[in-house]
Amino acid sequence: MHSSELNARIINRGREFFAGIAGEKPSLFDKGSWMGKMMDWSMGNEQFKVQMFRFVDVFPSLTTGKLLTEHIREYFGDEREMPPFMAAGARVAGMLGSFGGTVLNKVLTANIEEMARQFIVGETTKETVKNLGKLRKDGFAAVVDVLGEATLSEEEAENYTNTYLELLDALQAEQEQWQGLPGTGGDPALDWGHAPKVNIAVKPTALFCLANPQDFEGSVAAILNRMRRIFRRVMAVNGFLCIDMESYRFKDITLEVYRRLRLEHPGYPHLGIALQAYLKDTDRDLDALLAWAKEKDVRISIRLVKGAYWDYETVKAGQNGWEVPVRTIKAESDAAFERQARKILENHGICHFACASHNIRTIAAVMELARELDVPDDRYEFQLLYGMAEPVRKGILKVAGRVRLYAPYGHMVPGMGYLVRRLLENTANESFLRRSFAGEARIEQLLEDPAAAAERERAARSARPEKEQTGPDGLVPFKNEPMADFTWADHRAAFPEALARVRSRLGETCPLFINGRDVATGELLPTVNPNRPSEVLGQICQAGTKAVGDAIAAAKAAFPAWRDTSPRVRADHLLRAAAAARERIFELSARQILEIGKQWDQAYADVAEAIDFLEYYAREMIRLGEPRRLGHAPGELNHYLYEPKGVAAVIAPWNFPLAISTGMTAAAIVTGNCVVYKPSGLTPLMGRCLAELFREAGLPPGVFNYTPGSSAIMGDYLVDHPEVSLIAFTGSLETGLRIIERAARVQPGQANVKKVICEMGGKNAIIIDDDADLDEAGPQVLASAFGFQGQKCSACSRVIVLDAIHDRFVARLVAMARATTVGPSEDPAHFMGAVADGKAMERIRGYIEVGKTEGQLLYEGPVPEGEGYYVPMTIIGGIRPGHRIAQEEIFGPVLAVMRATDFDEAIRWANSPRFALTGGVFSRSPAHLEKARREFRVGNLYLNRGITGALVERQPFGGSRMSGAGTKAGGPDYLLHFMDPRVVTENTMRRGFAPNEEMDTGQERV
Ligand SMILES: Cc1cc2nc3c(=O)[nH]c(=O)nc-3n(C[C@H](O)[C@H](O)[C@H](O)COP(=O)(O)OP(=O)(O)OC[C@H]3O[C@@H](n4cnc5c(N)ncnc54)[C@H](O)[C@@H]3O)c2cc1C
Repeated sequence: MHSSELNARIINRGREFFAGIAGEKPSLFDKGSWMGKMMDWSMGNEQFKVQMFRFVDVFPSLTTGKLLTEHIREYFGDEREMPPFMAAGARVAGMLGSFGGTVLNKVLTANIEEMARQFIVGETTKETVKNLGKLRKDGFAAVVDVLGEATLSEEEAENYTNTYLELLDALQAEQEQWQGLPGTGGDPALDWGHAPKVNIAVKPTALFCLANPQDFEGSVAAILNRMRRIFRRVMAVNGFLCIDMESYRFKDITLEVYRRLRLEHPGYPHLGIALQAYLKDTDRDLDALLAWAKEKDVRISIRLVKGAYWDYETVKAGQNGWEVPVRTIKAESDAAFERQARKILENHGICHFACASHNIRTIAAVMELARELDVPDDRYEFQLLYGMAEPVRKGILKVAGRVRLYAPYGHMVPGMGYLVRRLLENTANESFLRRSFAGEARIEQLLEDPAAAAERERAARSARPEKEQTGPDGLVPFKNEPMADFTWADHRAAFPEALARVRSRLGETCPLFINGRDVATGELLPTVNPNRPSEVLGQICQAGTKAVGDAIAAAKAAFPAWRDTSPRVRADHLLRAAAAARERIFELSARQILEIGKQWDQAYADVAEAIDFLEYYAREMIRLGEPRRLGHAPGELNHYLYEPKGVAAVIAPWNFPLAISTGMTAAAIVTGNCVVYKPSGLTPLMGRCLAELFREAGLPPGVFNYTPGSSAIMGDYLVDHPEVSLIAFTGSLETGLRIIERAARVQPGQANVKKVICEMGGKNAIIIDDDADLDEAGPQVLASAFGFQGQKCSACSRVIVLDAIHDRFVARLVAMARATTVGPSEDPAHFMGAVADGKAMERIRGYIEVGKTEGQLLYEGPVPEGEGYYVPMTIIGGIRPGHRIAQEEIFGPVLAVMRATDFDEAIRWANSPRFALTGGVFSRSPAHLEKARREFRVGNLYLNRGITGALVERQPFGGSRMSGAGTKAGGPDYLLHFMDPRVVTENTMRRGFAPNEEMDTGQERV
């Protein structure tokens, strides 16, 4: 907190500031204009705001009158539903009959384009240079940023880089004509006598389309390659380069790029970086950066901002179960800004400061701090966004003289994202500008010391602590296990360490686990690394029919006691197994990276999902374990309860070697069944890990038995066995149907009708509508189709693109694919690794040949030389619904592209295969999204996101038709499939006397 004298000076200065601009308003809040009216209406009506900002977002892709008219109707309804400032236009349009739509389109288009122009300094270099000249005439310097940071391919990143180089050429020519802005510095050729006239800002991730903290070193190197070229050009024009800070995910990469570039040219001072005061890390990062600059003896420059991604960061963290990286008390961000500004100004000898804020309190604080610390003028300046807070910038210009406007330049399409960010920023309840110019806040409140306000808010929050909720079972409610957060250096480091540890123990012999004991058999089979098949990971004892028979006998013997164990105790075993898995999460991830070739994040997600199944099913069983009372007739007590079926055979696939095995097994066990588990022959070591987790959890002998072995030798034996009452299977359609058929045949001595829980294949499609956001759709399709080499049941194997957008989408998708590399999965630089085994490789390669004859090859990527079951990333266009690669499951990295004339056809094609597992739609048409909800009939439909990565509880997973029997793993009905319901009815009347119904309380009634 500042001293009270300093704070008083800040408040005084703030008051003077407000007095100096009394009566003025930023144009955004000027209710005389369409934009001001729209902002005003948005601030009073949250639902309209969402619709309006979403409309602005989709607007640039509405390239025909028809599309525009349809979207206006879908977003805003008819004239009666529109706010007054729009309804007037709509009324006029209505009067004009069939021309009305065109008129309304024109009115809205003109207004939105005008709004975009408010924030964009120019659409072309020529216009930009001209407008920069005008700004300079008004006394403002500028920092120019090129719009379009969402680069999806190397070509786009290269174009983006070249746009900067061209811009710098244009500015170089122009700066000769520019007089230096007046100031106290000594060099008249520079702005204010000390600052370069050319100043640009660059978003680092735009320079490398695959930037990703998982591949930290690769991302830094690739960004640096292009940043270096821009910086060389900046130095040649004696300009200034500031590296912008984007979302938290890229913060450490950005800092590293800055440090390396800084050291490459230690003598050239004009290189800055933006830091975000809203991040909890920033105090530490700032200290580290200043200490580093001193140690390396280099001068640095910091632009301090509060941060533009607050909503994104809070939502993202919530979705992934991560700690929120930003402060959640607004005044804390303000206080952090002032604290960090002081630190930077104290170090003005080595650090130049750009104060980037529109907040008069913040600006006044920086002015007073600089005065108190005697900071020379050439060591700090003020920056604001072009198009915002015009009175504030005029006010600063009057007092400090040194104001630079952050001026984006480029086309409107990429500019819309920027525009929406600004609209959100200005309409946020916490926005200083909104509170000052469109709200009720008093000047004293606006100028209050934020440290004091933050303390007050913290005290208020701790006075109403959030109660940790617990359910009736005493457990905290289910929460998904957080995903790996590669933003953290320790998560990044954990993978190579775990891989090395696992490797040091390779080659072990792995026994069966039957009746609580390890059992060795004479027959051993190796399990290998598909990326390097010569690397043997372990020798697996094979179970034949004798061992499987022993396991079934052990399960049968264990069943009565396990069935009669209370649901709560059974659930506790799952919770202990979950704790054991959590403890070993990196090691378990490393094992599957080696055994089945998952990438780091994919492997971690698999273990996290296994933990989720254990935690979720434990809670579900406690819920279902309570008998429910039915009906309310007097003198009668009806209880509905569930019982396990007996011995369960769990036959698991290799593609989610821990998660799916754990899910099916945990469901069977917690419901009271005893399990004979057959892992896939390709991932027996992962299967053994499951046995270890259950052993650690203390399951009684016989409840879980692990019997890896050949399907050909013991598969049918297990399915046919008369003592097996339940079969849980996930795998191919052929095997699934065979199991269903065999299980239906009653064997001699069989006591129960067998139940089969079956999850099979998919032929999943994503539809790309003509108004889709391609910046989102491209990467999501790529990840859904090629993540883990396309070997997920949920993977996208068809992309159905509407004609109007087809060529643009395909060009971007292929360009993006070209940027990826294929190689060993343990190296995070590779997007894809090897497929499961030699057989899979041959099969997929066969389908690629079929695809080449059916359609046109759009992309076939390179694969590494030498060993490894590699298949090229393949995209085939011109596919029609009748083609084999549009109908048959390939289970590999082959994507069929289909061109549909309209949305109805796209839906028809999407539904045409016999599978119905997952599907997706990228569209910004509310009507089309609604139609897809109704008519795109798949088990898991995803709108405007990728189609893989279903989460337990949030997206229960499973398909219908030939994709499965309609069970939903990780959902509220799943456990019911593992049990038989029973009803017990008691006549409670004796000799004409029945207990009062109310006496029987505490039990749920249905
Ligand atoms: C020249 C310039 C360059 C910029 N460069 C970048 C950049 O590289 N990276 C970047 O991210 N942003 C950048 N910005 C955008 C900047 O982050 C926002 O404009 C800025 O946060 C708005 O802050 P303010 O002080 O003007 O307004 P204020 O209204 O005082 O502050 C608004 C800010 O407070 C924070 N906030 C809002 N709600 C909460 C809450 N509940 N808890 C805690 N904090 C909250 C958010 O950061 C929000 O933007 C830049 C801005 C300028 C002017």
